[in-house]
Amino acid sequence: MRSILSLVCYDQQASRQVRQRGCAAATASIIEETSMKQHFINGTSLASADGDSMPVLAPATGEIIETISCGKATDVDRAVAAARGAFDGPWGRLTATERGRLLTRLGVRILDHLDELARTEATDTGKPMTTARVDIETTARYFEFYGTAADKVHGEVIPFMAGYTVTVVHEPFGVTGHILPWNYPAQMFGRSLAPSLAMGNAVVLKPAEDGCLSALRIAELATEIGFPDGSINIVTGRGSEAGAALAGHPGIGFLSFTGSPEIGRLVQQAAANNYVPCTLELGGKSPQIVFEDADFDAAIPVVCKAIVQNTGQTCSAGSRVLVQESIYDRFISALAERFAQLRAGTPEMDLDCGPVINARQQQRVQRFIDLARQDGIAVIAEGSIAADAPKGGFYIKPTLFGPVPRANRLACDEVFGPVLAALPFKDEADAVALANGTDYGLLAGVWTRDGGRQQRMARKIRAGQVYINGYGAGGGVELPFGGTGKSGHGREKGFLALHEFAATKTIVNRHG
Ligand code: NAD
Repeated sequence: MRSILSLVCYDQQASRQVRQRGCAAATASIIEETSMKQHFINGTSLASADGDSMPVLAPATGEIIETISCGKATDVDRAVAAARGAFDGPWGRLTATERGRLLTRLGVRILDHLDELARTEATDTGKPMTTARVDIETTARYFEFYGTAADKVHGEVIPFMAGYTVTVVHEPFGVTGHILPWNYPAQMFGRSLAPSLAMGNAVVLKPAEDGCLSALRIAELATEIGFPDGSINIVTGRGSEAGAALAGHPGIGFLSFTGSPEIGRLVQQAAANNYVPCTLELGGKSPQIVFEDADFDAAIPVVCKAIVQNTGQTCSAGSRVLVQESIYDRFISALAERFAQLRAGTPEMDLDCGPVINARQQQRVQRFIDLARQDGIAVIAEGSIAADAPKGGFYIKPTLFGPVPRANRLACDEVFGPVLAALPFKDEADAVALANGTDYGLLAGVWTRDGGRQQRMARKIRAGQVYINGYGAGGGVELPFGGTGKSGHGREKGFLALHEFAATKTIVNRHG
């Protein structure tokens, strides 16, 4: 595959399509050469049935770097049929051990292509090179973890009445659908697809409009190392078209969705029409709670990183810092000192964060900042954008606001950008009330040296993961992860994910 860092351009057909959509920026950056990424269906690249395509922009520059196929219902039908063929054929016939070996080999293959995949991911999403490399390593780790777990999901025998043998087995659904966001495209590929494949399902993925290039490349690598045709299929394109077609497809047995709460609700409704179960991994407004006995030196860098990692575009970003009143001023001024040093730049500059994903997201985040200022909330500290960052890139200055009133949108709504809201609290009970005071429940961090308080807080906080004296921003392939309320339901990662992607069957044998 040609490196996407070498800026490519459109053929005449693609440039015509861009112009037809009135995309001036796109037309302006058309350069010399043609590059087009198509769907990946039944082991091969395929154009959309209607030939439709759309441009991909680099967030760091705002320039066009690629064209992707724009799938519709027909393309999703083709992908689901290919997956069904693989499940009923060569893929479905593999033993768990054989499947596991393939997954493990794919993990190794991904690491062999670490530099290439990291460049692709960094260019496609704008994230710093170091982050992109970690993302690709984590993607490989998902295939390693689930590859070695594939033959370790055992059933059970239940003691029952005399003359009976009862067994419980975990079976694949057949074809699983996966609809993913743009913030961690490669990691999400591993996190969502690897456990499903490990359980023996064939998969159809609809990646986000922005951030699908690494997935297409990893699917190619999978085919090169022997994944049967049709076991992994990818349809790129718009959510309202390809995404909606996949969510409502009667040919899938399970749906895994990661994205916004609003689309999650739509997707769940579409799946429910066919009685298809689903997991929803949605947003968050996760608190980092700092008590008066916290180790400031340990907490401050983690509190900063938890909000600027991936430019705040992390569902589990620690976007609220709740600080005990007695230390509020002292802690916040130490935090502000560190926060003011944060810098955003291109992937190659490899700073604290990159741009946000697209112009729409930049406007959305900027609006949160503007409204908070209009509401009279003080800016405690501001990071900076590297002076030589391209003007067309989608950059936002990391911003720390506080004290934020508890009912303000900045204290309640997900920004999905590098914006941290500081709020004071009185005591333990108040900290719990504040932490649980949003519609979300994904992650929380608690900073205290008091062992009893650590346990009390961990139990009372409504979240899928609680970190004590640390913050994982969703990290840990081995750690079950997911939310409650508006953060979604179901669990990914760890061993639990394997059970999400399997149907449990009880076999009751009366043999006398
Ligand atoms: P989004 O909901 O806009 O899009 C997610 C995916 O859904 C994309 O592939 C999109 O094309 C598709 N889609 C859009 N409309 C659709 C429709 N009508 N039917 C079917 N599919 C459709 O989310 P986003 O903007 O890509 O990502 C940001 C959101 O994702 C944030 O809210 C963030 O918190 C959340 N997120 C959650 C997790 C998690 O694990 N909890 C992880 C990453 C991101």
